[in-house]
Amino acid sequence: MNLVLLGPPGAGKGTQAQALAERLNIVRLSTGDMLRAEVAADTEFGRGIKATIEAGELVSDDLMIRLIGERIEKPDCASGFILDGFPRTVGQAEALDAMLEARGLKLDRVIEIKVDDEVLLARITGRYTCADCGAGYHDRFKRTKADGVCDLCGSKRFVRREDDNRKTVKARFKAYYGQTAPLLPYYRRRNVLRSVDGMAPICEVGRDMVKLLEWGQTD
Ligand code: AMP
Repeated sequence: MNLVLLGPPGAGKGTQAQALAERLNIVRLSTGDMLRAEVAADTEFGRGIKATIEAGELVSDDLMIRLIGERIEKPDCASGFILDGFPRTVGQAEALDAMLEARGLKLDRVIEIKVDDEVLLARITGRYTCADCGAGYHDRFKRTKADGVCDLCGSKRFVRREDDNRKTVKARFKAYYGQTAPLLPYYRRRNVLRSVDGMAPICEVGRDMVKLLEWGQTD
């Protein structure tokens, strides 16, 4: 099964993509994680995109299309994948369609996670992850059980994304509403788009997504 998750920054795409990938036993491809790994490893590619990410702007379509094109060739994608953060422009969506078609594949579903704008900023600016196992937490909405200790692996090291600050978040919203939101009518026309209410608790959103995939329910 090949899926795309759509939604503004802070909608919960990463959390839901992770859970769904485990449940369906397919790979989660997060372009944000892939780019951050390049920046952290200080590769030539990473150095070239660092400023763009820190400004909350989009990396060029050419680079992103090449990155995903190479990634979906890998054997672990053979049984399907969930794209989290790609496509983000109509140009990327068209390139994805062409890449899949050339491989005899198709997009089975695009799921939009809908969340009210006011809660997005609060969600984003309070989030952090365990530096060792990647478990996600939030200052207000999901604290660790013991202060400063990861519930899952016991680590005491945590990290916050560089671009999860108010200024950059504004630019990321602008990029979403200006360049990514046009993908909603694009996929609606192809009859693959379904929506879930991302304001519900995390496990309910997950259940709704599974229901959509199992029953092909419409929104
Ligand atoms: P994310 O973790 O998905 O929020 O992505 C973090 C940042 O990486 C974005 O704000 C962009 O700068 C960049 N990025 C991730 N995916 C893409 C994409 N498909 N196209 C362009 N830029 C991207």
